[in-house]
This record gives sequence, structure tokens and C-alpha cells, in this order.
Amino acid sequence: MVLDPVRTAEIAANLAEVRRRMTAAARRSGRAPGDVRLVAVSKTYPLTDIAAALAAGQHDFGENRLEELWPKVAAAKAEGLDAIRWHMIGTIQSRKTGDAVGPLTLIHAVDRVKIAQRLSRDAQAAGCVLDVLLEVNVSGEASKHGFTPTEVTTVAADLLALPGLRVCGLMTMAPFELAAEATRPVFRALRELRDELAVRFPAGDWRDLSMGMTNDFEVAIEEGATIVRIGSAIFGSRNG
Ligand SMILES: *Cc1c(COP(=O)(O)O)cnc(C)c1O
Repeated sequence: MVLDPVRTAEIAANLAEVRRRMTAAARRSGRAPGDVRLVAVSKTYPLTDIAAALAAGQHDFGENRLEELWPKVAAAKAEGLDAIRWHMIGTIQSRKTGDAVGPLTLIHAVDRVKIAQRLSRDAQAAGCVLDVLLEVNVSGEASKHGFTPTEVTTVAADLLALPGLRVCGLMTMAPFELAAEATRPVFRALRELRDELAVRFPAGDWRDLSMGMTNDFEVAIEEGATIVRIGSAIFGSRNG
């Protein structure tokens, strides 16, 4: 694969800047920078861009559609890019759960009981256990996927009992239109919900909080994010 040196340098510089801002946000809130993982969201961008980021030391990549994810996984493998850890960050349709079973590091957006049950069943059939996060619609926007905070508490015990899933924590999306600082209550609420769940359901591993994107990742880190999902700040704007 031939990488364009200008584009490769641009991605490396963007990554360095994102990492610098992540470190500063972690320090500001008394956290260790190593406690926050960066998932580079590569949706709509080509494998050459992923290879450029990988060359700059970025190993975790996120895609939001299975139709785009698996061809990229296959192409990366064919190019020998074996050090990549793939994350499925988008919601999964109930008839597509079987397509989500594969070499994924983490599935970020399990948003309904039915999806969890089907994923578990399909994972079991394939003889594996999937690491997943539960997506929570903290802001209550009708357009957003996810469990309500009350719902997630109600169904937590049932979800923890599913044999094909390992629940590793929670994920949320803040309202897009908000300025970064205005997202703080959303991220804080997700952390508090996670802390409550960890007390009430100690059998679960509630370590991860996947929250924060290009516009709001510093606030998310200040509020306890362990994973941020960043696309545009690394690869550029997707809509022109
Ligand atoms: C696209 C996407 C992101 C990254 O968005 P940016 O604003 O480009 O950083 C994060 N999370 C999910 C679920 C996404 O679909």
C-alpha cells in the first residue's frame, strides 16, 4: 500500500494534537493520561488513512456500520495491518446481530434488551463471548438510541446473566448541538449511573465509560471517560 506523505504527516500531526489535548484534560482532572483510550473513528475514510494513523502509533479504530467495518477488517488483514483493534461504535439492527460476531475488541452501543439477547445467542453459537457496552440515552432526546437510565438499572441483572456477553460499562452520545461545556451534565450523569450500577450489581465489570467525540472529548475526560471516540479531529470533516 502506498501512503501519500502529505496526508500521512497531516494525520500524524492531528493525532499528536488530540493526544496532547487528552493528556491535558486528564491532568486537569487529576487522572492518569494512560487511563483514557483513544478510538480513532475511521468511518468513511480509506484504509490508507487508517494505515497512516497506525504508523503514528494509533491501534484502536472505530466504525459505525458493519457493512463498512468488515470489508476494512479484511483489507487491513490482507495488507498485514495486524496490530489494529477494531471497535463497533454504531448501533446494530436486530436482524444483523449475527454479523457483529467476529474479531472485535469492543461493541460500544448495545441499545436494547432484544439486541443484547440476540448478540449473546449468536456469540454462543460461534463459541465466543463479546465485550460490550450498554448505550444510555442520558439526555432523553427522542432521536437518540439507548436505554433510559431507569431502564438500564431495571434490566442490568438480566443483561449480566447473558452467557455470550461480557458487559464492560456504558456508552453515551451527548447532543450534537450543544457547546462542549454544556455537555458536562450528560457525561457526569453517565459516570454517576455507572458508579451506582457498580454498587448494585457488583458481579458486572463496569470499568468503561465510552463518551466524548471531537466536539466534547475534553469535557468527557474531565468527567471520567475511559474511552473517547474521535473522528473529525484526526481525519478531517466528513461533510465537506
Ligand atoms: C462518528 C462517530 C463518532 C466520532 O465523531 P466525530 O465528531 O467525528 O469525532 C463517535 N461516536 C460515534 C458513535 C460515531 O458514530
